[in-house]
Amino acid sequence: MGLWNTCIVLPAIPFALGFNLNCAFHTMEKNSMRATLTIAVLILSAQLLPAFSGKSVEAEERKSPIDEHRSVPTELYFNGDIVTVNEKQPEVEALAVRGGVILAVGTFEEVKVAAGENPKLYDLQGHTLLPGLIDAHGHITYTNILQFSANIASPPVGPVDDISGLISVLKAHAAESSDADWIVGFGYDDSLIKENRHPTRWELDQVSKTRPIAITHVSGHLMSCNSKALELAGITKDTVDPSGGHIRRALDSQEPNGVLEETAMHRMRFVLPSPDVPTQVSMMEKTLAEYASFGLTTIQDGATGVQSLNTLESAAKQGLLYLDVVAFPHMSVGLNTLKRYPPSDEYDNHYRIGGIKLTLDGSPQGKTAWLTEPYHHPPHGQPSDYKGYATLTEEKAQEFVDYAIGNNVPLLAHANGDAAADQMIRTVKSANAQFGKGDRRPVMIHAQTAREDQIEAMLDEGIIPSYFVAHTYYWGDWHRDSVFGVKRASRISPLRSSADKGLLYTIHNDTPIVPADMMRLLWTAVNRITRSGKVLGESQRATVMEGIRAITIDAAYQFFEEDAK
Ligand SMILES: [Zn+2]
Ligand SMILES: [Zn+2]
Repeated sequence: MGLWNTCIVLPAIPFALGFNLNCAFHTMEKNSMRATLTIAVLILSAQLLPAFSGKSVEAEERKSPIDEHRSVPTELYFNGDIVTVNEKQPEVEALAVRGGVILAVGTFEEVKVAAGENPKLYDLQGHTLLPGLIDAHGHITYTNILQFSANIASPPVGPVDDISGLISVLKAHAAESSDADWIVGFGYDDSLIKENRHPTRWELDQVSKTRPIAITHVSGHLMSCNSKALELAGITKDTVDPSGGHIRRALDSQEPNGVLEETAMHRMRFVLPSPDVPTQVSMMEKTLAEYASFGLTTIQDGATGVQSLNTLESAAKQGLLYLDVVAFPHMSVGLNTLKRYPPSDEYDNHYRIGGIKLTLDGSPQGKTAWLTEPYHHPPHGQPSDYKGYATLTEEKAQEFVDYAIGNNVPLLAHANGDAAADQMIRTVKSANAQFGKGDRRPVMIHAQTAREDQIEAMLDEGIIPSYFVAHTYYWGDWHRDSVFGVKRASRISPLRSSADKGLLYTIHNDTPIVPADMMRLLWTAVNRITRSGKVLGESQRATVMEGIRAITIDAAYQFFEEDAK
């Protein structure tokens, strides 16, 4: 997609990347920004932002970290739009950095004095400089292991247009990975392939009947498996649906058709091998480079299992992490295990545990999100009043929320459908009543169908929504025509309503669900243009500066890091 082509436009600056967004920001004029915005993102280090929250050049001098880097030359950036995201000092002429920490911002003369003798000068040549970007929600360890998977996404992320194309990609991947037992793929999208349905076990059997195959839907909430994989997982016509999940069946039969929803995937994941910790650690360099290329300096692992916790801990110990990584162990490890991984405010070699993660429902594009009103068109085999379903019972959800709120453990709760959002608000409200309100900043992850009354309730209970606004582009047409109908689809990720009501929010890509391209994410928040080029809910657009805040300082607040980033 030419619109988002990125290129290094500042080759003289080793740590700066430039993004040309020619005409990408259609609402630029309205937001009094230039029609063509060129953004350079500094990716020096996660400690980049501190000086932006200071007031004067002198006050911004941070002695201790800078003293450690006395021998490091000071870099002085000038002649561009330097966006501080600090309302008190929104734009400055120049910025000095030493040892990855901002030394000073201000007029060129002020910064030159603060920079001392012989700073390295970097002429931005009119480009815009932004602070390091923050991934408000995503999954770096999952992204990392996908290096072993076939890319079966549809354009622009992958090559698959229909089921025969999917089979060809899997056959090629099977040949390349002939030493592995399993054939795995990620990212198929029933909303985008020609057939508009999930591939069945019998279609996947065309790739192999002897090697097990498990391919994961782009939402991460469903998968399709061949007959060999179903056999290994022991899923038969006699297997009953687990609580919070569904085994899809062939028409007029109990025979599984290969498609597993939500918790029904657990049995498959149990037999599906994943790369061992040393292998995962060795793959991390490539994954970090990908995130860094998009200007990210803080990354979330927002549903970490025990093996992935070991991977991150090991990568940190070996000094391999150069971007800050914050892990949130997932509820699937069980409450007792969660208690063994308490959160920490301090990074250790760029790694810390940030809190815990709950999953309350599924995905709207996969039609498993838990809604209060029926889907516009129900999925395969479901009645017209189908509304999706909860992942946890109310009691179980309350138990996890009580643990988090009662122990001041930062909480992320995945809630896509408004019924799941109701459950989060209800359980947090109950815990707040029991333990007293405090500065705990629980985050509603995705919050895509949050209603106006829920925005007000989030304000009351201190909940921060992190909106998956990239959906307006990736699945906007599908949401309007198949999932929600035009009225509900037009107000998914209600950024404008939230800002107007004074509710702080963040936005995310949920990588690997969509690539970690932060400029594309910003573009979706500001424009809400679907794949087919139609605007979805113009009245919910964010301004450019609101969008930038949602991936910088407001995201830092979500992580309790607003004093440092
Ligand atoms: Zn999620
Ligand atoms: Zn996620």
